[in-house]
Amino acid sequence: MPKPVCYSTKAFSTNNATTPLAATTIERRQPADTDVQIKILYCGVCHSDLHFARNEWGFTQYPCVPGHEIVGQVTAVGSGVKKFKVGDTVGVGCLVDSCRTCPDCRSGLEQFCTGMVMTYGSTDKHLGGPTLGGYAQSIVVTEDFVLRIPANLNLAAAAPLLCAGITTYSPLRHWKVGPGQKVGIVGLGGLGHMGVKFARAFGAHVVLFTTSPNKVADAKRLGAHEVVVSKDEAQMAAQAGSFDLILDAVSATHDINAYLNLLKHDGNLVLVGAPEKPLPVAALPLIFRRRSFSGSLIGGLPETQEMLDFCGQHNITSDIEMIRMDQINGAYERMLKSDVKYRFVIDMASLA
Ligand code: NAP
Ligand code: ZN
Ligand code: ZN
Repeated sequence: MPKPVCYSTKAFSTNNATTPLAATTIERRQPADTDVQIKILYCGVCHSDLHFARNEWGFTQYPCVPGHEIVGQVTAVGSGVKKFKVGDTVGVGCLVDSCRTCPDCRSGLEQFCTGMVMTYGSTDKHLGGPTLGGYAQSIVVTEDFVLRIPANLNLAAAAPLLCAGITTYSPLRHWKVGPGQKVGIVGLGGLGHMGVKFARAFGAHVVLFTTSPNKVADAKRLGAHEVVVSKDEAQMAAQAGSFDLILDAVSATHDINAYLNLLKHDGNLVLVGAPEKPLPVAALPLIFRRRSFSGSLIGGLPETQEMLDFCGQHNITSDIEMIRMDQINGAYERMLKSDVKYRFVIDMASLA
């Protein structure tokens, strides 16, 4: 296939696991038939961006331009584009393409397609090399992977919905969280604070677990009915055997068995956090009460749009701290210290 005509756009990238991100220029394809060209206005900063830029999961292709919580404005559309026009406010999450034909794609579960193309770090079938993400001024995405952002939402605060939002919404919906259930959320970071908002909006009794005592008041303001400081053994013991579902959104190694013990019989501990190293799981806490330990990956395109529309109806966005693009390396260091309230969002005008 001949290489498509390209244009240049400013971005922030790194070429290896140890070098800080820095300004660069990258190429994007000119929009073809079904493509939408987007001027990126804001991009959220996910802990996965850090894991990936630093090759913590071991499969990063460089150069790496992270960023998969993208919102912006449509600047051009291909001749075959039906759903979007120039000027529309749109979003792009963790996926930019998939095979479109497998059973997972046909049922709207593109995240499980073996041919899924991640927004960054997959092979770019148009240009070769890795796909390059949203720490950039512009991106070109096929229209089926572009989402509508409800007009009433603050655009910068809506950016994190594209990953932190759908990653917490999807498992809470899949396991039918609702009134009468007791739900735990572990870790008050980008994902965790969205988990608290959604679990509360779905009508559950919400308990937030944190290692940071200074986040207790915020957790209540965000919607938690109770907050447990997880380092306090007495507070943990008081919750034993009481949860229907616990969503674990922690980015680092921690004791998973402490949370298995808090589940009722048939309760479910769902991992969305993706620490670099394996988490040891003890057999007995699982066996004794027929508990489940499971995982969940972002969400498919139809569910992501459903989540965005739900957020529009219920006025749900992320609590954000806006940064300039050149503050990204410092933001990563703060993220590692659990010092984010509760999502960094890059103002892409700062890259101009
Ligand atoms: P984040 O904003 O950095 O939040 C992580 C939170 O985990 C921290 O704020 C902290 O909360 C807690 N934490 C950190 N270190 C800890 C430790 N050593 N022990 C216990 N708790 C600790 O990260 P994020 O962007 O929400 O992402 C969280 C994880 O989800 C990352 O691993 C990310 O890669 C993964 N992720 C997965 C998916 C998916 O599809 N499954 C999608 C996106 C992200 P407290 O201060 O409250 O303790
Ligand atoms: Zn993410
Ligand atoms: Zn597929």
